[in-house]
Amino acid sequence: MISPDHPRYNSLILREKMANAYQEGILADTALIAHGRGEAFDYILGENTSPAALQAIRTGISAMLLADNPVISVNGNTAVLSAEYIVELSRLIPASIEINLFYRTPERVRKMEKLLKNAGATEVLGKGGDDHVTIPGLGGPRSRAHPEGIHRADVVLVPLEDGDRAQALVSSGKTVITIDLNPLSRTAQTSSITIVDNVVRTIPLMIKEVTTLKRYSRKQLKEILDEFDNAKNISKSLNLISHHFKQDE
Ligand code: ATP
Ligand code: MG
Repeated sequence: MISPDHPRYNSLILREKMANAYQEGILADTALIAHGRGEAFDYILGENTSPAALQAIRTGISAMLLADNPVISVNGNTAVLSAEYIVELSRLIPASIEINLFYRTPERVRKMEKLLKNAGATEVLGKGGDDHVTIPGLGGPRSRAHPEGIHRADVVLVPLEDGDRAQALVSSGKTVITIDLNPLSRTAQTSSITIVDNVVRTIPLMIKEVTTLKRYSRKQLKEILDEFDNAKNISKSLNLISHHFKQDE
C-alpha cells in the first residue's frame, strides 16, 4: 500500500498499475522497460505539461477535428494508463479506436479488448478475428491495419509508438500525431505532430481542448495547423531538458 504522503506518490501509483497489468498478462515485460524510459524523461522534464506540449496538443486536436477518418491507435501501456480517457476522447472527436500491440498475442488482444470495453468503448477495431491489411514497409504483426481503421485513416493518434511504425505511417501519407516523453526518439522525430508529455496528462488535456476547439471554424483550425512547426516545437522540449541540467549556472 503506497501512502499518499509519499513524495513520489503519483509516479508509484502508475508503476503499480503497470506492474499489476503485467501480472495479469495484459502487458509484456518489455512494456515495463518502456515505461521506465518514459519515467526518466518525465523526471527531467519536470513532470509537467510544458507550454510547447500544450501547443502540440492544441494542434493535434485541430488535425483530428479536421480529419475525414481520424483513428486512435491503442497499445498496452496506453490502455493500462488511460483507457477511460481514450474512450472519452474517441467519443468526443469522434474517432475509431484500434488495438495495436507490439508483442501481439491472441490472449493479450482479448484482454485489451475487455479493458477498453470496461472503460466504455462500444466498438474496438483490431480484434482477433478482424480483417487486416498490411502497412507498406513493415512486417509481422506490427504491420496490421484494420481496413476501416488505420488503413483508411487520414489522421492517426499513436501514443508511445515504435519508430519504424511511425515512419511507415508517415510514409503512407497519413498525418501522425504521437505522444512520447522522449523528444529524441525516432517516433518523436518522424511524426507530423509530436506531443512531448506523459500520456496520463496529455489525454485529459486533449479532451479539454476538444471542447474548446469544437466551437472553432474549419478555417480557424487550419490556421492553428499552419502555424505549427514540429521541429521547432521539439526543440523547445529539448531546451527545457538542457535547462534543467544547467540549473546551477
Ligand atoms: P523509437 O522506436 O521511437 O526510436 P524507442 O525504441 O526508444 O523509440 P520504444 O520502446 O519504442 O522506444 O517506445 C517507448 C517510448 O515511449 C519511449 O520513448 C518512452 O519515453 C515513451 N513513453 C513511455 N511511457 C510513456 C508515457 N507514460 N507517456 C509518454 N511517453 C511514454
Ligand atoms: Mg522502438
